[in-house]
This record gives sequence, structure tokens and C-alpha cells, in this order.
Amino acid sequence: MEIRDFDTPAKNTWCPGCNNFSILSAVKQAFADLVNSGEVKPEELVMLSGVGCHGKISDYTKINSFYCLHGRTLPPAIGIKIANQRLKVIAFAGDGDVYAEGISHLIHAARRNHDITLIVHDNEVFALTTSQVTPTTKIGFRTKSAPKGSFEMPLNPLLLMLSCGATFVARGYSGNIRHLKGLIIEALKHRGFSFIDVIQECVTFNPVREKYSHKIYDLNESGHDVKDFQAAWERAKEWEEKIPIGIFYRVERETYEKQLLGDRILVDEKPVSSIRNVLQEFM
Ligand code: SF4
Repeated sequence: MEIRDFDTPAKNTWCPGCNNFSILSAVKQAFADLVNSGEVKPEELVMLSGVGCHGKISDYTKINSFYCLHGRTLPPAIGIKIANQRLKVIAFAGDGDVYAEGISHLIHAARRNHDITLIVHDNEVFALTTSQVTPTTKIGFRTKSAPKGSFEMPLNPLLLMLSCGATFVARGYSGNIRHLKGLIIEALKHRGFSFIDVIQECVTFNPVREKYSHKIYDLNESGHDVKDFQAAWERAKEWEEKIPIGIFYRVERETYEKQLLGDRILVDEKPVSSIRNVLQEFM
């Protein structure tokens, strides 16, 4: 398959220069590589997205997809994976979407080690609603909801995921498409909950490229041991002087789905003839 095989005829309405284009490109390249290497069939890929500018990624990618409520991209992703363990399920969310409304789902998905991937478009601002503070907005940043600058302590998503037991924790940068593609491939190959927070520039409301790009480095090129939890924790705290991207932590742990179902594929099993019969079992 070629990257353009994942294109759709939908008209793209992201702002010119939006870094969502870079993330979309990395996603399509990763899908094409995974299909061409025999890792997955195109019909086994499923993507979900939440509400926000990022959400349109489902419109622009030709695979099975599901558009979710705000902050609720993970529950249907989990349901799809439990129903059919053959599928590769990849959820997309924004920072306001999943770190605010959807944070309880995130915590429990990581804790339970659901066998799905989450990619967060983290531009540190509610962009679709034209600039309000999100949980990752940095102190002092001015938005319409904080005209004098945000005074809230921002969330560190990587520390959160490490403390919740996520088995694959990574950070990407939308300014490095090749690196991000590699992260997405590794995340999709991982068995268990794989998480990528992507530093993303919103050219309209939060143009971070000048602030961040000179600080960014690849921690996997600096001898980082991805199995070392303490080292991952220390690297995840870096931000002011240097910003690491890459895989911080990767370990194997039995998935929720394997513990619940073993090798059963629920969609292959005999369908229930009547929901009334099922309900009567509980009456
Ligand atoms: Fe992209 Fe920001 Fe425009 Fe949304 S508002 S499409 S995130 S540049």
C-alpha cells in the first residue's frame, strides 16, 4: 500500500500550517509500513477520535473509524478491542479532550493495560473553541479564558502515565514526522496500553515551534534504558532546559483482554438471538 491509499475525499479544514497535517502524515506512513510488512491488514486497523481540531483526523484517513464524544475516545476503543482482539485499535485525542474531561478513562486504561494505542495531539490549548486553558497549558500563557496568563500548575502527562502503570510511554514532536512515524509503529506493535503524547504546534493559538524546537532531543539516542522506570521518571521531568522525545518506558505485562478472554474472539461467537432473553437472565 502507498500512503495515498489512506487518503479520503473529505475537504481538509485545518488552518494552513497546522501541525495536525504532520501528525496525519506520520500516521498514514506508519499504517502503510505496518501493512506492507504484514504486521496488520488494512481492514484490521480501527481509529477513533474525540472532539477538537484533532478529531477530524478520522475524516481524513481511509480506515474503519469512529467519532467519539468529548473526552470519550477511550471507552469505545476499549469496547472494540474486547469485542474483537484481532483489531489494532488506535485512539486519538486532544490535550483538553483526554487530560480534562476524559482523564478518568485515561487513568484506568493505563492501569488495566488495555491493548490499545492512544495518541494525544498536545498543543496546550483548546483550539477548536478558539483558545482556552487546558490541563497542559503552561503558566503565564495567555488565552481567552486566562487573559492575564494561566496560573494553574500544568499536568505532566508522562509522569501521570508512568504512575498509572502504562507499559509503553512515549513523546513525539509534530516537527519531526520521521521520528513520530517510528514511535507510532512501535506503539502499534506493543502488546498493552501504548501512549504517545505529541508536542504539537497550533499555529493559530499556540505557535510553540520557536519556544521548543531548539530544546528537543531524542532520548533513545542518548543511552536511555527503556526498561528502567526510575530513569524514565527522571527524563519525564525534563522540560525547562531540554525536552526529550522518544520512548521513555516499555515493558511487557499481561493485557486486560488476555486476562479477561484468553484467545476468545467475541465477534466470532454465536450471536444472542434476542436481547430480551439475555435480560431475563438477570431478572
Ligand atoms: Fe490547527 Fe490550531 Fe487551526 Fe486547530 S486552530 S486547525 S489546532 S492551527
